[in-house]
Amino acid sequence: MSCKVVLAQGISVSYREELKNTIKTRNIRPKLVGFLANEDPAAAKYAEWTAKTCAETGVEFELRKCSRNDLEDKIIEANQDAGVHGIMVYYPVFGDRQDQYLQNVVDVSKDVEGLHHKYVYNMYHNIRFLDEAKTKKCIIPCTPLGLVKVMEYVGVYNGILPHGNRLHGRIVTIINRSEIVGRPLAALLANDGAKVYSVDINGIQEFHRGVGLQLKKHEVSETTLTVEDVLPLSDVVITGVPSPSYKVPSHLIRDGAVCINFSTFKNFDGDEIKKKAAIYVPAVGKVTVAMLERNLVRLYDYQAQDRAF
Ligand code: NAD
Repeated sequence: MSCKVVLAQGISVSYREELKNTIKTRNIRPKLVGFLANEDPAAAKYAEWTAKTCAETGVEFELRKCSRNDLEDKIIEANQDAGVHGIMVYYPVFGDRQDQYLQNVVDVSKDVEGLHHKYVYNMYHNIRFLDEAKTKKCIIPCTPLGLVKVMEYVGVYNGILPHGNRLHGRIVTIINRSEIVGRPLAALLANDGAKVYSVDINGIQEFHRGVGLQLKKHEVSETTLTVEDVLPLSDVVITGVPSPSYKVPSHLIRDGAVCINFSTFKNFDGDEIKKKAAIYVPAVGKVTVAMLERNLVRLYDYQAQDRAF
C-alpha cells in the first residue's frame, strides 16, 4: 500500500506558527468568545480544541456556557463589548432555522465562523473583498476554508494556474450538502475551477464554471447521476456524513484519488481506503480551528481600522 496518510495536526502547523508569530511580534491580544448551548459531545470536543489552540497561539479564549433560550441575549451582550473581537457558537443549538437566525445575530464584524449572510452571500457570488479598493478580504466559513487549505497542502490546487482557477480540470465529489459545510464547500471549489458533484440523501447536483471556466461564478445543475457514477470519476472525494454506520464504498474510489473525511465519524474504512487512495486525510478539525483563529486576527485588524462594515 503506498497511500500517504496526512494528519490535520501537520497541515495546521504552519498556520498556527504564523498566528503565534503575528500575535507575538505585533503584541496584540485578540479575544474570542465561544458559546456552548448544547450537550453535544462533538461540540464540547471542538470547544476543547479551540481552547488548546488559542492558548498555544496567544489568543484569549473564553468559553461561555448558557441555556439555548438565553443564547440570543448573550450574543448581543458580546456584540456590544469592545473587548470581544470574535464570537463563535457551537452548533447545532436548536437544529432548525432558528440556528440560521442566530448566525445572523452575531455581529458581522465579529463573526469568525463566516456564517453571517453577508459572508455567505459574497462567497456564493464569488465576491472576494469587502471593499472596492480590495484591501479587506471576505471572511470565509471556517470548515469549508479549512478543507480548501487541506486541498492546497496535499497538492490538489495547481500553483501554475492563476489564483481563482487553480482547480481547473479537477473533479471533486462532496458527500454532504449542509448549509454549514457541504454546499458552501461545493461553491468555493467550483468557483476555483473544479467540477463538483455534490451528494446528499436526495441526489446529486453538479457545481461548475462551464467548459474553459467561461463563467465568472459557479452555476448548479441537477443530475440523475448516482454515487456509482461519480466516485470512479473523482480525483478528490470529501465526505461528511454524520453517521457511524455510513461508509464510502471503497471499491468505487478511483485508484490514486485524494480522500478526505470531515465527519466526526470515520466515513472511510481505513484499511480499504489505503489500498486505493494516494492520499488519505482522516480528519480536519485542527485545520478548522486554525482557520477560525486566522479569521479572528483578520477581524481584529478590520475592527481597528473600523471602516469595513
Ligand atoms: P448535517 O446533518 O447538517 O448534514 C449532513 C449532510 O450529509 C446532509 O447534506 C445530508 O443529506 C448528507 N447525508 C447524510 N447521509 C447521507 C448519505 N447516506 N449519503 C449521502 N449524503 C448523506 O451535518 P453537518 O453540520 O454538515 O456536519 C456533518 C459532519 O461533519 C458531522 O459529523 C459534524 O460533526 C462534522 N463537522 C466537522 C467539522 C470540522 O471542522 N471537522 C465542522 C463542521 C461539522
